[in-house]
Amino acid sequence: MKVFKFGGASVNSADAVRNMAQIVQTHLEKEPLVVVVSAMGKTTNLLEKLVPTDSSLSTQHSSLWQQLEDYHLDIAKSLIPNDETIVNKIQSLLHQLDQTITALSHSATQSPNHSNYNYCYDQVVSFGELISTTIIAEYLNHLGINTLWQDAREIIKTDDHFREGRIDWKATEQEIKNLKLHLEEELNTLKNKDNPVKKIKNSCRVILTQGFIGGTHSPLSTTTLGREGSDYSAAILAYCLNAESVTIWKDVPGFLNADPKFFHDTVKISQIPYNEAIELAYYGASVIHPKTVKPIQNKGIPLYIRSFITPEAEGSSIGDYRTLVPETPLYIFKNNQILLSILPRDYSFIAEDNLQVIFGILSKIGIRVNLMQNSALSFSICIDNNPQLVKPLIEELKSMFRVRYNEDLQLITIRYYTQEVIDSIVANRPILLEQRSRTTEQLIVPCK
Ligand code: ASP
Ligand code: MG
Repeated sequence: MKVFKFGGASVNSADAVRNMAQIVQTHLEKEPLVVVVSAMGKTTNLLEKLVPTDSSLSTQHSSLWQQLEDYHLDIAKSLIPNDETIVNKIQSLLHQLDQTITALSHSATQSPNHSNYNYCYDQVVSFGELISTTIIAEYLNHLGINTLWQDAREIIKTDDHFREGRIDWKATEQEIKNLKLHLEEELNTLKNKDNPVKKIKNSCRVILTQGFIGGTHSPLSTTTLGREGSDYSAAILAYCLNAESVTIWKDVPGFLNADPKFFHDTVKISQIPYNEAIELAYYGASVIHPKTVKPIQNKGIPLYIRSFITPEAEGSSIGDYRTLVPETPLYIFKNNQILLSILPRDYSFIAEDNLQVIFGILSKIGIRVNLMQNSALSFSICIDNNPQLVKPLIEELKSMFRVRYNEDLQLITIRYYTQEVIDSIVANRPILLEQRSRTTEQLIVPCK
């Protein structure tokens, strides 16, 4: 079995869905193809604004709602004109979403805390994937591709860590095995019937499911796996199915040595060793979700990154390779960084017990450190400048330490650097902090 993943950009309009369906059609084989799909376009961002935080709906609520409804209905009507079924299915999901928001806005006032917000978030935001896959399943069936819509909440089992559901691998493997058995049985019964060729052709060719979402054990609540988590969903399915490969279809020609938003002369990397891909995702390469590679590496499943714009082109592959091909410097840029220097009030050394306190606060607030360095008198951390998290962090640190900070910074990571490459990237900007290992250079500089 093969697993395909299509992200939001690959299904952001009716034409994009037609193109995606064409790719699916080209790759149909005897065994069902497992297709994982995200919410359409920027729907997840829109749904985030509909998550209730108190009993009154936001002032933008009705215009956002209209946008959500029109966007999906327009795509559906363009794909299958004059069809009531697809419209009714979308309306029914929108009705469920509306009821969910109303019910949650009451509970939000009763327990207005962080964990309740995370719970509400998952119940609302997950509708992006539910609606997109419903539309696409209808469309593929309309094209004559026999497609089974599978609710990911029934097979991707997680704990109740809302917004960052942690996979229950044993239960998930069991659910996916059951699904596979069920499909095989269905295929066998069809094979034994009179007209084998026609029947097999009609049996399920595509299993279509949602990326990003999962479900807790009973009572079932929806969970999400973290923003951009659909790549991870594809990897989980591939792991549990012992899939032959995973293909992520993207709007770039493959794994590039830098984000084309920041860099003009990008080079496509054809082969990337698993560990290199894990390192790059860890440093912030946005091409794949950081959790994606480990499960497939454990089973030696190759991961392909290909362009949905030029689907016949080869793309990149992540696998059991020894080196990058071609060997070239790799760049990762993270903007909007803040560098905090934390100093003990009594001018004592930054000792282990101070560090323990600092990391306790970071972990409690849920902040990931992108770079850290300590000296005798201070401890510096570079983090994403998200005011909702950084403000409480500084407040809490200030009760025990002196805190200084610099904002509007860029964190640059260069793997396989040369001094020449570093100089051209830094371009005379002052370097606030620098760290170098044999393979990796990291620098913090003001944004350009
Ligand atoms: N729709 C989700 C997001 O935008 C998941 C994904 O696209 O991978 O974060
Ligand atoms: Mg993505």
